[in-house]
Amino acid sequence: MNSNKNRHDNDMPTPTAGVPPYASHPAFVADVVSAARDPGPKPFEAVNLPVWRASSVLFSNVADMRAEVAATAGGERRAANYATAGTPTTFALAEAVAQLEAGAHPARAALMPSGLSAIATTLQAFLSPGDHLLMSDSVYGPARLFAQGMLARFGIETTFYDPCMGAAIESLLRPTTRMVYLESPGSYTFEIQDTPAICAMARRRGVLTAIDNAWASPVLARPFDWGVDMSVLPLTKYWSGHADVLMGATVVREALWPQLHQAVRQQGLCVGGDDAWLILRGMRTLEVRMRAHERHGLEVARWLQGRPEVARVLHPALESHPQHHLWKRDFLGASGLFAFELNADVTPQQVEALCDRRAHLRLGFSWGGFESLIMPANISALRTATPWRGGPLIRLHAGLDAPALLMADLEAGFDAMRTVRG
Ligand SMILES: *Cc1c(COP(=O)(O)O)cnc(C)c1O
Repeated sequence: MNSNKNRHDNDMPTPTAGVPPYASHPAFVADVVSAARDPGPKPFEAVNLPVWRASSVLFSNVADMRAEVAATAGGERRAANYATAGTPTTFALAEAVAQLEAGAHPARAALMPSGLSAIATTLQAFLSPGDHLLMSDSVYGPARLFAQGMLARFGIETTFYDPCMGAAIESLLRPTTRMVYLESPGSYTFEIQDTPAICAMARRRGVLTAIDNAWASPVLARPFDWGVDMSVLPLTKYWSGHADVLMGATVVREALWPQLHQAVRQQGLCVGGDDAWLILRGMRTLEVRMRAHERHGLEVARWLQGRPEVARVLHPALESHPQHHLWKRDFLGASGLFAFELNADVTPQQVEALCDRRAHLRLGFSWGGFESLIMPANISALRTATPWRGGPLIRLHAGLDAPALLMADLEAGFDAMRTVRG
């Protein structure tokens, strides 16, 4: 025992001669912890809410602490015994999301670290082993991968359906079907579904409906008026609007809140105050930005329709879109995201030449910010019920740039395509 102690002492670094051991002033140690924690006697009001950054939430006594623990477990509004359950900043955003997305329908929203985590959590919260899921064939790719991966591993089977089937998807229902998961317009291919008819059928059959409302946002679509039970919003996209923050939300009818809340709490899903604040800031200009995206997108889409290199433009607001009538009936406008199909004889090298010849357009995933984006969309692995048989597909996000600049870029890209051919 003694020899151990001695060996340890021998390993200690020898103090440098003449330097006293480090010792802080005891008053400083107390002050550095307690200073600057008083908000002051005078109320201060700015236009925007402050950012709350918190982990521990403090209580004045044990009885209050106990009450808050119970309120948090019950998913009561603004209850948080620990900041994973929220802070005034995240509560404000969650309430705004529920109010803007669901309108007059009583609803609650949970914030999640990304749009994809909102999708995954929604599916996990409402599906159990043995359940069957109907999912649109045109869903966001990672949502499909989650269904085919995690959900399959946990004994939940998914059938992908043709997004143009409408209420005829009733024929795909099984006794175990628990949910229909929609996205309209579809990712990359922009099919518009007859969501009101699907929701009416599902409700009659006791099946839940969920929709990804990324493309339209509540500015252009009111999914709860169509009858959905819940919607998923990648706040990363148009809500943020500035390509500088990642977040998602799930909005559910009030009656479904306890089940969603349990899934969120049990997994410790939460978002930071700074990120929530950025979404609140972006949200204020969501409506005016959407109108600019719509105008710019349509101008470029109409121009593309007249180009000889383009076989088809996939944009729901164009009269040529196969479900244009449904879009006109159900949506309040169009956003800036659409796709176009090149002629079938265009080669992969020519697609690269088109997408690499850019001055204003940027090349990248995601969309919904102020910037304009282009990308080749290789969807052959992302369709099973409705295999893609068209020519090369290009996705375009019309940002806030002047449309003339985007058309000049595309024109140069089409020229570059011709040089590859020769
Ligand atoms: C981008 C996107 C998501 C995912 O959002 P992230 O915040 O990027 O995870 C979900 N659905 C659709 C339709 C999207 O385009």
